[in-house]
This record gives sequence, C-alpha cells and structure tokens, in this order.
Amino acid sequence: MISKEEIIQKSKECGFEDVGFTTAEPFETHREFLAGRQAEYGWAETVGLELMKGTDPKAIMKDAETVIVLMEVYFRKAYPRHMEGHFGRCYLDDDRVTKDGLSQRIKAFRGFLRDNGIDSKVPFNLPHRVAAARAGMGTFGKNCLFYSNNVARQSSWVLPIAVVINQKLAPGDPTLEMGCPDWCRNACIAACPTRALKGNGTIDPRKCISYLTYFGDGLTPKELREPMGIYVYGCDRCQNVCPRNAAWLAADLPVNEKVAAKAGAFDLSALLRMDKPYFESQIWPHMFYMSADDLWRWKMNVSRAMGNTRDPMYTDDLICEFEENEDQRVQAMCAWALGRIGGEKAKTALDRFLRKSAGLIREEVTDALAQCR
Ligand code: SF4
Ligand code: SF4
Repeated sequence: MISKEEIIQKSKECGFEDVGFTTAEPFETHREFLAGRQAEYGWAETVGLELMKGTDPKAIMKDAETVIVLMEVYFRKAYPRHMEGHFGRCYLDDDRVTKDGLSQRIKAFRGFLRDNGIDSKVPFNLPHRVAAARAGMGTFGKNCLFYSNNVARQSSWVLPIAVVINQKLAPGDPTLEMGCPDWCRNACIAACPTRALKGNGTIDPRKCISYLTYFGDGLTPKELREPMGIYVYGCDRCQNVCPRNAAWLAADLPVNEKVAAKAGAFDLSALLRMDKPYFESQIWPHMFYMSADDLWRWKMNVSRAMGNTRDPMYTDDLICEFEENEDQRVQAMCAWALGRIGGEKAKTALDRFLRKSAGLIREEVTDALAQCR
C-alpha cells in the first residue's frame, strides 16, 4: 500500500501544485442546498450533469474511501488580451476534447494509483470546490468561486479536480468557510452586470453571463444585451474585480503559446462569418458546450459583443451576416449591433433592411435605427 506522502510526491511530479484529501462521506449539506434550489439548478439535471448523484462519492464508486483533490492553476500563463476580454479564462486552455494537456497529467496520476493497486474515478459531477474546501485547500468567495489557500497567490484561478479512490487516507482539516475580507464592499456583487450574485454567497446560475452565453434560450432579451457586454463564451468579471485576485493579476506571467497560436481563429470577425466546417475544426474542440446546431447562438453572442465594442471596424461584417444568415436570432442581433455602433454606413444598411423586413426583424431594425447615431 502506498503512503499519502508518495501520492503527494506523484501529484507534484504530474504538475499539480497542491493536493488535498477528504473522506468519501456524502456531501450532505451540498445535497440539501441543491434540493432546496431546484428552480435554479434543475436545468443541470436536464442536460445530464447529475449533480445530486455527485454528492455521494459511494454512488460513483461503491468502495470509495477517500477523495483526493488535485489543484490545477488554469491561469498559470497569460492569455492574449482580446481572448481574455471575450472568453472566460477557464475555457481558453480546456483540453477536455483535445486531451493534449491536463487530461494526460490526470491519466498519469491515475496510472500511478492503478500500478499501486488503487482504483480511481474522476467524476465530472462531484462538487469539486466543496471537496477542496473540505480537504482544507481553500475558502469560498461571495462570488461563489473557490479561492486557494496555497497556490496562485491565494486567488480563484484554480480548478480543483476530485479523484475518488478506494484507499483510506487521513483527511485534511476542512476550511468550509467564506474567506472574504470585511473591508471588501462586495465588489463582485456590485460588478455583476446581470445581478446573478445574490449577496449571500449564492448565485442564480440562470442569470450568469456564462450560462446565458452557452445555454441561453432564444434571442437574448434587449435588457440583457448591453449588460452582457463583450463576453462571447463565459465571463470573468466577478473574478477580475475581486481584491483577492489582485496579486495574481499583477503577476508577470509568461505567454501561453498554445493558446496564442489559436488566437486568430477566435477573432470576432472570423467567428461571425464562420461556417460549420470551420466551427467543427477550429472552435468546437476547445469550446464545446454548444454543438454545430447552435451556431446561431455563437453568432448571436459575437454580434452582441461586436455591438458593445461600438467599433465601426465590425460594421461590414455585421451587414454581410445580416444579409446572408437566415436565422432571425442572428439577424436581430446584427441589427441591434449596427444600431449600437451607429454611423452613416450602419444607418444606410438598416434603412435598406427595413424596406425588406417584416415581423420581429422589422421591429428590431426599427429599434436599431432609433438608437443609431
Ligand atoms: S461570471 Fe459574470 S455574470 Fe456570472 S456571476 Fe460573475 S460577474 Fe456575474
Ligand atoms: S469581490 Fe470582495 S466580496 Fe466578492 S469575492 Fe472578492 S473579496 Fe469577496
């Protein structure tokens, strides 16, 4: 039987900067939390996330004894600025499809456990942040994110990975608490543009920009278009404004060359004009919550982001996409974006669209013309 020290040593060799241990007892408080908030989290069950099942490690592995938590710093290297502005950082180097980074390190760690007679499972639905806090590795913020006690200057740019195993190991001392300083006047709550954060350390995920960008239903309502700003997929606003993250944001980080190499593919103009083959080869392997059938949502998000830049450099793209895309949700947002950017060219195009449009699109174009300066 291998010792805890040997497991810690191997986790470091696999590139994990921190590792913790907790028992395989059910996460009872989290289960009660989910049960009491079905209105906010019921959607997660319908998309197959099985969050309730994940609260009991023994439902994942019958003879589970311990949950090992490996801590990954996903913002160890800097990302291109325009990508950080439009995409949540945790998605920029996500290898869950390509399996060319983190997945290989997890595999190597599990291989070590297996070679030493330990079974392991890496469930996607176990409450990994709660597990990390129960292992004593960090605390929570009022933005509902997890802050490390030990790595990345104690910031929230970390991803705890829960590994359920069938060997008993001494657990850490839990730090299941809110770690925000008294002097922070709830900067995250004030900064959340869609009022998703409730102020008591909980969130309504359905109002969060991250959720809205990849699971939002239909055409984004008018009152959310401006608050959702320039984010296309994900949102980091409540982390960017948090003083607990300031030290890491000030760190001089080396460039993530792997992400920099694909930055051109994520240019807004390229995304607005992309077709299915482009999406499937360049985008989906890295950001996969939406399938090719949801290309309209990508384009709707991109056109909304373009509009919120208020930069006339996107006017031509928006005009072309309106004329060539038959999806009304995309057309509506292109019209809205043209109205928000304004200028003679946008106005002329909107006048032209008005003459040949009806119904919803006519309404959108009329509103866009009214705000066009
Ligand atoms: S990620 Fe964005 S939308 Fe979601 S809670 Fe944070 S600031 Fe609000
Ligand atoms: S912004 Fe303030 S209240 Fe929000 S998580 Fe950071 S420290 Fe806590």
